Amino acid sequence: MTTISEFISENFFYVFLAVIALTLFQRKYGKRVTKKRMAVLYIAIIIFALQISASLIMEFEFTDAYLLIWAVAAGVIIYFKKGVIFPFKYKCVKCSATLTFNDMVFDDSNLCEKCREKEKALEDEESKESEE
Ligand SMILES: [Zn+2]
Repeated sequence: MTTISEFISENFFYVFLAVIALTLFQRKYGKRVTKKRMAVLYIAIIIFALQISASLIMEFEFTDAYLLIWAVAAGVIIYFKKGVIFPFKYKCVKCSATLTFNDMVFDDSNLCEKCREKEKALEDEESKESEE
């Protein structure tokens, strides 16, 4: 049985390319999204490693069972490095409003637009005060 490995080795390269393309879009947002850019890179590495192992399983005619080992290893890594590999949140950390895709992927703060503007106004005020 190598159905899953076959599927992964044939298709995951495109998933990998799509994820890499995403980091290029993130670049546009510069310093606003450094943590999440690294996170997407880690995810890309995991996908790439998975694709390579699936190809090896096909090459050496192993079974899908070997993928399980890989899945467990990836699971352990993700579990212990969750904040680094998966810093994405679905909801605003301040007001729990559902975040848009852009807020989720292109901004490290995990804040909705309203909260981000409030935060920014506050920061501007503080910097004005310190100037005086
Ligand atoms: Zn909010």
